Amino acid sequence: HADSAMYEAKRAGRNNLQFYTPALNDILIERLSVEYRLRQAIERKEFVLHYQPKMDFLTGKVNGAEALIRWQPEGGEMIPPFKFIPVAEETGMIEEIGAWVMREACAKAHELRERLGRDIPIAVNVSPRQFGQPHFVESVRSALASVDLPPHCLELEITESTLVLDARKFVDTLHELKALGVCLAIDDFGTGYSSMAYLKDFPVDRLKIDRSFVDNLEQEPAKKPILNAIVALGRSLGLKVIAEGVETRYEHDHLRSMGCDELQGYFFSRPLTSEAFERLLIEPAIV
Ligand code: C2E
Ligand code: MG
Ligand code: MG
Ligand code: MG
Repeated sequence: HADSAMYEAKRAGRNNLQFYTPALNDILIERLSVEYRLRQAIERKEFVLHYQPKMDFLTGKVNGAEALIRWQPEGGEMIPPFKFIPVAEETGMIEEIGAWVMREACAKAHELRERLGRDIPIAVNVSPRQFGQPHFVESVRSALASVDLPPHCLELEITESTLVLDARKFVDTLHELKALGVCLAIDDFGTGYSSMAYLKDFPVDRLKIDRSFVDNLEQEPAKKPILNAIVALGRSLGLKVIAEGVETRYEHDHLRSMGCDELQGYFFSRPLTSEAFERLLIEPAIV
């Protein structure tokens, strides 16, 4: 409700200069407190990564995972990313947090590779501000080098909203990352602007269809033509197409028949702790 209060205040503020509403004051206080606690969290190392398995439609097996950050304050409840990633992004703290995520994910991919004797690529979400850092490509290179991880074991998920800042620079950076050998994916595809115009210029490997196109598919069949068009678009560009947020058998079957390559969602698995993810890889039948 803080968000909707913010929205109301903004809307009212546009016409009436209503800046000092009590609601807005509350939001600012809440903001500052999140910011303060977030700084502490970085020092106290209160972040953990959970891993959501991705399933290959052809084999029905796990062929990688997405790393998803969680904030676990001491003695408090787990805080989901939507509550702090935007604050981290606005304050610049995302640069430090993002660098930690990258190193941690590379370390995990390396560990799995050693223990299982096969590659389990890990995908990391990269925020717009993090992507735009002058030394971003270098930081990816050094995260890989620090654990001697082959670049194809790291995937970067980038949203279309990153593009609006500076399209030219965006594409240049993608090329540098591609040259490094990491795998690149457009996340939340279909929700951003100008995706169609630019897509052919992006040296990416994968499209992740936004969850909103999959959600409630059975109850909302009107979503099908759009979903089908996105899958066809990705495939015709030679990209792997991944559906996220798949929750039901119905959604699974439809996406499979559409020719989608990979699935991620509660239907297959929720995001897991690092240990649970590893157990799933070792004893797939039990989980
Ligand atoms: P995303 O990258 O699109 O990640 C997918 C989100 O969908 C995750 O939420 C995941 O738990 C959720 N999800 C997966 N399957 C299902 C499903 O079947 N049904 C439903 N309802 N949800 C599903 P989560 O973990 O809360 O993350 C939300 C967003 O926060 C992510 O969206 C990503 O944009 C951001 N995020 C997470 N970790 C990081 C990170 O390390 N760095 C940055 N910059 N952003 C992150
Ligand atoms: Mg993602
Ligand atoms: Mg997404
Ligand atoms: Mg759903």
